[in-house]
Amino acid sequence: MTKLKNISTLNNWFQNLSEPLIIAGPCSAESEEQVLKTAKQIADLGKVSVYRSGVWKPRTRPGNFEGIGEDALQWLKSVKSETGLLIAVEVANADHVTKAINADVDILWIGARTTSNPFSVQELADCLKGYDKPIMVKNPINPDVQLWVGALERFYKAGVTKLAAIHRGFYPFEATTLRNIPKWEIPIELKSMCHDLPIICDPSHIAGNTEYIPEIAQKAMDLNMAGLMIETHYDPSIALSDMLQQLTPNELGELLNDLVFRSSSSTNDGFESVLETLREQIDSIDTQMLELLSQRMNVVKDIGNYKSKNEVTILQLRRWEKIISTRVKLGKKLGLTEEFVKKLLQLVHKESIQRQAEVMNKISSKDK
Ligand code: PEP
Ligand code: MN
Repeated sequence: MTKLKNISTLNNWFQNLSEPLIIAGPCSAESEEQVLKTAKQIADLGKVSVYRSGVWKPRTRPGNFEGIGEDALQWLKSVKSETGLLIAVEVANADHVTKAINADVDILWIGARTTSNPFSVQELADCLKGYDKPIMVKNPINPDVQLWVGALERFYKAGVTKLAAIHRGFYPFEATTLRNIPKWEIPIELKSMCHDLPIICDPSHIAGNTEYIPEIAQKAMDLNMAGLMIETHYDPSIALSDMLQQLTPNELGELLNDLVFRSSSSTNDGFESVLETLREQIDSIDTQMLELLSQRMNVVKDIGNYKSKNEVTILQLRRWEKIISTRVKLGKKLGLTEEFVKKLLQLVHKESIQRQAEVMNKISSKDK
C-alpha cells in the first residue's frame, strides 16, 4: 500500500510558492469581464499567487448555473498572461482534465463531492499519469480521513508528486451557523498521517457567509496550515454561485492585512523551556484525568454487578439527568462551557453503559 507518511518530497513543489500560499478568485468564472476584472484587482494586492475559478460547477440540483465550461479556460489563460497569477480550476472527470491540461492550467483541484467517490478519483488519477500537474484534493463531504488520504494515495500511485490537501469542512448533520463544520481534528489527523503534505484551508466553504471567514482563516493559520483558498468576486452581489460567501478584492486585502501569522516555534530566549514546563503540567493533568476515568470505570463495573444481582436496568434516566444538571452547574463555576461538559459526560456515559452491559451480560449468561 502507498503510504504518504514518510514521503518528504510532498512539500517540494510548494516551497517555491509564497508561504502561506494564498489562492483567491471567484467561485465560478461567469464572463470574460468578471474573470479579468476580479483577477486584476486581486493581483494588485500583491499577496495572492494563485487565481482560482470554477469552470465546471457541481450543483446540488440541475438547472442552476453549472459553469461556462471550456470557453472559460481561454479567459483564465488571459489572466495568466496579463497578471502573472497561476491558474487553478476544479476537475471532476477525464474530459475536464484533458481540457484543463490543454489550456495550460497550472493547478487542478478535486472537489469535495468527487473526493467522496473512489471510482471518480481513480479515473482522474489514471488520466493524470505522465503529467507533472500539481493536484489539490479537497476533503470528502463526510468526515472520513481514510477516504481523504485514499484519494491522495490514488494520485501519488499514478505518479503525481505535487500534492496538497484542501480543508473545506464537512456536511453538517446538526443545525449550525456555518455552511460546513470544520472538524479541525480531521485535517490534524491527516497531517499526522502525512507529515510533509501541505494542507490549505478554504474558509469560504466552511463559513458559507463572509461574516465568519476572518475567524476561520485565523484559526487555520494558528493551526499552522500552509495556505488559504478564499472566494473573491469583484461584485459578489451579482455572483451566479456562492454569492453570500464571496469577498471583494478590497475585503480580501483587509483580511490578509489583519491576519496574524504566528510561527510554529520562536527564537525568543527561554521560549522552549517555558513551553516545556507548561507541557509537563498538561502531561501530568492528562495522566491524572485518565487515572480518574479508570477508577470511575471500575466503580461503574461494581454498580453493574450490583444492578445485575438485583435485576435492575442499566439506564436510570433520573440519575443521568441529575448527573448532567449538577455537572453542568459545577462546570460553569469552574469556567467550562455547558456544551463541553455535556459532550464529555455523554462520552463517559456511553462508555459506562457499555461496561455495565458487558458485566451484566456475562453474569446473566453464567447464571443460565
Ligand atoms: C468550490 O470550490 O467552488 C467548490 C465547489 O467547493 P467544494 O468542492 O468544496 O464544495
Ligand atoms: Mn464555491
